Amino acid sequence: MQNITIFGATGSIGDSTLDIVRRHPDRFSVYALSAQRRMQKLAQLALEFGAKVVIVPDVAAVDVFRANWPAHQALPEIRMGERGLCETARDPETDCVVAAIVGIAGLASAFEAAQAGKRILLANKEALVAAGSLFMQTVQAHNAQLLPVDSEHNAIFQCLQNGREQQHIQRLILTASGGPFRNTAIEELEHVTPEQACRHPNWSMGQKISVDSATMLNKGLEVIEAHFLFGLPADRIDVVIHPESTVHSMVEFIDGSLLAQLGNTDMRIPISYVMGYPERIDSNTPAFDLRKLQQLNFSLPDFGRFPCLKLAFEALRAGQAECIALNAANEIAVAHFLQGGLRFTQIAQVIEQALNWQSGQDSAIGHIDDVFQLDLLVRERARAFLPASV
Ligand code: NAD
Ligand code: MG
Repeated sequence: MQNITIFGATGSIGDSTLDIVRRHPDRFSVYALSAQRRMQKLAQLALEFGAKVVIVPDVAAVDVFRANWPAHQALPEIRMGERGLCETARDPETDCVVAAIVGIAGLASAFEAAQAGKRILLANKEALVAAGSLFMQTVQAHNAQLLPVDSEHNAIFQCLQNGREQQHIQRLILTASGGPFRNTAIEELEHVTPEQACRHPNWSMGQKISVDSATMLNKGLEVIEAHFLFGLPADRIDVVIHPESTVHSMVEFIDGSLLAQLGNTDMRIPISYVMGYPERIDSNTPAFDLRKLQQLNFSLPDFGRFPCLKLAFEALRAGQAECIALNAANEIAVAHFLQGGLRFTQIAQVIEQALNWQSGQDSAIGHIDDVFQLDLLVRERARAFLPASV
């Protein structure tokens, strides 16, 4: 029996994870659940899964959580804020942490889980992009286990056969759907709305990652994530547009063999793989329809259409500080785009300005606190780069 703690339990990854738990009550029990908003949903989930601990942002959220809790039931222990998340990450009762908070907000708790030597199912790619080798070294130093939830990295991980094939990799090929604007006329891109950007053709996901998929900054973050997870340089990580999203990524080996993982676009598949690892367990998903294989298309991404992808490659080649800057500027830009305060095409411009600014700085990243400090600094700069009007 594994005691699971889910950070970001009310989100899209949280939903998929809990669906697997529901399917396997003999294998998994929920220890703790966290959420930033939607306290009613958190209370329902905590009740259904018998969570011992919940983590909410602040005192006001505690009140809302209590108000949504049935009077005759014993309350779970309620912890608060980042301190509550970190305490739960290292809690001896937690065997496995699902890191599914969106953005840098999830870094402290994921890093704490690494320091506590936990099994970490990592969905929160921003944490790895920002902390990079510090994160990987911490995982190693404390004998933690880091298993990728992100479908592309999960596909690659499956192709590596328990890591036995890692040293034989020639090249990684990350597939990308191209998002909702793959074929939109480039001059129309500046007019697209948040609603259009969040309407992903193949996947149903949280808002931030949906916008990232539309700009393809998501694929850029994934290239950086792949670099740290699998130890390959930027020029041995390729991105191809594959609109069907059937091949979830590929590994080319030194002997010329190419291995791929295929499947439906349902996150319960990669999540169940890491939950059961090294065993495979039922993911509660429909069987794959082989007719989907009749047409698989692959093409190279156009950096003119997707400047954010190009910026991510540049950041990776430049170093850790630039990866932090890329991520921080993007988080600010996407939040403003979602609020109607920035045009879609200006997201790339804000990131580019932040990267230009960062290239003139001398930022040494040797400690996790350096990551948080630089992240805050870049956020401040990025706000200054936001246009006064759209
Ligand atoms: P989401 O927006 O649906 O859910 C985010 C969760 O994090 C929610 O529970 C929310 O309450 C919590 N949260 C948000 N801000 C927080 C904060 N400041 N502090 C603490 N908690 C906070 O997002 P999602 O789509 O589930 O994505 C979660 C992570 O997984 C992201 O890093 C994303 O890139 C990654 N990911 C998601 C998918 C997917 O299919 N959704 C696929 C691959 C990777
Ligand atoms: Mg992905």
